[in-house]
Amino acid sequence: MEKAITRFAPSPTGYIHIGNVRSAIYPYLLAKQTGGTFILRIEDTDQARYVEGATDLIKETLTWLGLNWDEGPDVGGPHAPYFQTERKSHYIEWAKRLIAAGRAYADPTPAEKIDEYRKEDTAKKIPYLYRNHRPEETIEWQEGIPIRFKTEPKSYEWHDEVMGDLSSGPEVLDDIILIKKDGLPTYNFAHIIDDLEMGVTHVIRGQEYLSSMPNYLALYEALGIDRPKFVSLPHILAPQGNKKLSKRDGAKSVTDYKNDGILPEAMLNYLACLGWNDGTEQEIYDREDLLKKFSLDRIQNSGARFDETKLLWMNGMWIRKIHDEEGIDILYAKIAEDFWPESAKNYPEDYRKKVLAIIYDRLKSLSDLKTYTTYFFEEPRIDTSLILGNKFLKKSSEDELQNLLATVAERLGNETDWSADRLQTTLNTLLEETGKKPAELFSLIRIAVSFAPFSPALHLTLEVLGKDRTLARLNATKLALESA
Ligand code: GLU
Repeated sequence: MEKAITRFAPSPTGYIHIGNVRSAIYPYLLAKQTGGTFILRIEDTDQARYVEGATDLIKETLTWLGLNWDEGPDVGGPHAPYFQTERKSHYIEWAKRLIAAGRAYADPTPAEKIDEYRKEDTAKKIPYLYRNHRPEETIEWQEGIPIRFKTEPKSYEWHDEVMGDLSSGPEVLDDIILIKKDGLPTYNFAHIIDDLEMGVTHVIRGQEYLSSMPNYLALYEALGIDRPKFVSLPHILAPQGNKKLSKRDGAKSVTDYKNDGILPEAMLNYLACLGWNDGTEQEIYDREDLLKKFSLDRIQNSGARFDETKLLWMNGMWIRKIHDEEGIDILYAKIAEDFWPESAKNYPEDYRKKVLAIIYDRLKSLSDLKTYTTYFFEEPRIDTSLILGNKFLKKSSEDELQNLLATVAERLGNETDWSADRLQTTLNTLLEETGKKPAELFSLIRIAVSFAPFSPALHLTLEVLGKDRTLARLNATKLALESA
């Protein structure tokens, strides 16, 4: 396979929302699987939209997802610098060449005049095209004057790896601005020069750039450079309706999901498969698998819908996969301190791992950890209504429930072997001795020791809680029932 040189070229205008991350994942996968180069380039020429700190956020996001760039900020590379504002002289140089070749011109026309042209054309009901208002006189370019492309209206045909064969007519071509008044290039011009100088072979980006393609093709031609391959990614659609997922509709940043307890493995897997599949039913892919199976020709050409429920499901699958394949220590290491209940801080790692080992298969998100484990670290608030209102316990009187708790406490109190296996046997013996149904007896014990909406298998829960705490909680609940 030809070595692909790809790039992710975000503008530091805020956080990267998750609809945009595929524009980093796919170039990364293609470059890595072909032994090529993945470049990170910061397109910071729009000073008005520049957001302080956005570049750090972008780097942090890519690093979290494991999308390490081969060239770009921090790592450098043969085409440095990788910030467009630091490459100003390159664009001016190329724009001057176009001027010399008669394919660009300095345009001192003031903004008010340009506005008039637009209004005139609109009043005449003709499409506003700047090429119909080109200044008659040519002037020497100097800093502070915009440079425009001098287009030659014609038709174009091109191939897009996702969208197929496309074409456009002459009516869409215009004298687009190459260099702005502030001396910085427009996106339209800068990305073409950078892609050329950096040797980019595949331009992978959102489909919103498709309508500008004819102008880009005209520029490639005027510059006398070969076109790279084009890969336009369809929009990611918002959960409802037919709209593209956007920040305005509350599209969260990747780091928001990180803070919400999504694992990077799950995020990478989910986003890579949003609008791509390998033709099989497979849903869980790790990085190696993606590198093996990813191919441009299986990217869907219609929008894929973002579905947070599916992301959570996948995250749960990943939590289990990591546990089952790599073990509890690796899973534990992936859980940041913040996800544990505050009270867990007082407990040793060993104990926390035991807790994790019995509840991990219930987690969809790491942030579920607090809900599911707090009672392992602190005394639960006793709420007798959870017992009295329980559907299996409702029919028993408070006296009966107290007696039952006393029997259980006594039996467990005599236990010398507090292992899960032994506890399992004892709990079964208790069923026989009391003549109760498992749903009844086990619900009572489960609620009495946890007062939580969920707990793992009872014998495992009791083993981890330990004998003293189990007995203390059974007794405390019994007392509370007495005064209920
Ligand atoms: N700077 C552009 C953006 O953030 C990147 C488009 C491209 O990849 O060429 O949308």
